[in-house]
Amino acid sequence: MNYPLPSYLSNTGAGPWGVYLEQIERVTPYLGELAYWVETLKCPKRILIVDVPVHMDDGTVSHFEGYRVHHNTSRGPGKGGIRFHQNVTLSEVMALSGWMTIKNAAVGVPFGGAKGGVRVDPRKLSRGELERLTRRYTSELNVLIGPDKDIPAPDVNTNEQIMAWMMDTYSINQGRTATGVVTGKPLSLGGSLGRKDATGRGVFVIGVATAADAGVPIVGARVAIQGFGNVGSTAARCFHEAGAHVIAVQDVSGTIIHPKGLDIPALRTWVEAGRPLVEFPEAEAIPDDAFWDVESEFLVPSALEEQITKDNAHRIRTRIVLEGANGPTTPEADDILAERGIQVVPDVLANAGGVTVSYFEWVQDFSSFFWSEDEINARLDRIMQEAYQHIRDTARARKVTLRTGAFILACERILKAREMRGLYP
Ligand code: GLU
Repeated sequence: MNYPLPSYLSNTGAGPWGVYLEQIERVTPYLGELAYWVETLKCPKRILIVDVPVHMDDGTVSHFEGYRVHHNTSRGPGKGGIRFHQNVTLSEVMALSGWMTIKNAAVGVPFGGAKGGVRVDPRKLSRGELERLTRRYTSELNVLIGPDKDIPAPDVNTNEQIMAWMMDTYSINQGRTATGVVTGKPLSLGGSLGRKDATGRGVFVIGVATAADAGVPIVGARVAIQGFGNVGSTAARCFHEAGAHVIAVQDVSGTIIHPKGLDIPALRTWVEAGRPLVEFPEAEAIPDDAFWDVESEFLVPSALEEQITKDNAHRIRTRIVLEGANGPTTPEADDILAERGIQVVPDVLANAGGVTVSYFEWVQDFSSFFWSEDEINARLDRIMQEAYQHIRDTARARKVTLRTGAFILACERILKAREMRGLYP
C-alpha cells in the first residue's frame, strides 16, 4: 500500500529554505568573529506543525496542515505573517521566518523572526469554512503566540478580517481582550492607520531612493509588476501617482500590458470588484512567460518566491529589481543580474514597510494611544530611508550587492545580541 506522506516530510534542504541557507553562506565571510555564531541562523529555534480539522459546509470534515516557525528571537519576540496558500510547505515557512529575522534586524525593529502558514486554497472555502479554519489554527497556535511572545500579521491571502478572527480567538482562550497579539487588524480593533498600504508604500519609497542613486527619473519610468494583491496594487498606485507608467501587470489570472501605462485606479477598481485582472478591457493580454521580456526601468516582483531564476534572469531588461515579495530571486539569478548591471533591491529592505508599521501598531496597542496617519507615514518613510542609506553604504564599503549589504548589517545585529545574551545554560 502507498499512502501519501504529509508535505512536511518532504526534503526541506531544497526550495526556499535552500535559497535562504545559500544567502547565509554568502554573508558569512563578512561577519568576522561573529561568524562563530552563524549556525544559529541556520537552525530555526522551534517549529510547530499542527493538524487543522474543519467542519465543511457539505457535512464532511477536512484536515489541513498548519505551521508556525520561530526562527530566531535573539532581538525580541517572534514577528511575521500568516500565509494561506495551497502550496505552503515547511521549507517555505522556514525560509519566510528566516527572512523575517533578517528583515526586522535590517530595519531595526525590535523583533525576532517568525512565520506561519496553512496549506489551503482559501478561494475554495466559504466564509464560514474560512472562519472555522482560522479559529482552529489560532487555537492550535495558542502555545506559541502572544503580544510579548509572537505576533502574527497578514501575508499572502490573509487580511484584516482573518486578523480580527485570530485576535478574537486568542482573546477568548485567554479570557481577556488582547489586541496586541496580531497586527494588521481592522482600525476598529486596535489596527493602525497606514498599515494596509505600508508594504506597498515602503516598496515605492525604497524604489525612489534607489532610483535617485542610479540616476533613473521616476516621472515617465516604466514599471512592470508581478502580483496585484495588497503589495503590488499599492506599489502600482504609488508609482502611478508619482508620474511613472505601470506598463505591465501579472497575477494568477494572467498578464496584461499597456505601452503608455495602465490606468491603475481603474484597474484597482476592476480587481477589487472580483473581476479577473486579465480581462481588464483597457489593456492587451499577453502570454505569462512574455512578462519577463517587457522592457522597464523597475521590475517589481510582488507575488511568491523563486520567480526570477537562472532560467529567466538573462531575459530581464530592467534597471532596478524591487522585491515586493519575499524571496522572489534565487542566488543564481542574483549573480546573473549583478553581472548584467541590474540593481536588485532585496526583499528584506524593499518590503520591510509592512512589518515597520506592524511595529507601530503593536506599540500603539500597548499604550492604547493612537497616532495620526501623517505621523505614521512620516515615521515609516524615515525608517525606510535610513535603512536604505545604511545598507547602501555598507554594500559600497564592502563591495557587495545590496542583498549581502543588508544581510551583513542584519546578521551583525542579530549575532551581537546572541553573543551578549550568551547560551543558557
Ligand atoms: N507578511 C509581511 C512580511 O512578510 C508582514 C509581517 C508583519 O507585519 O509581521 O513582511
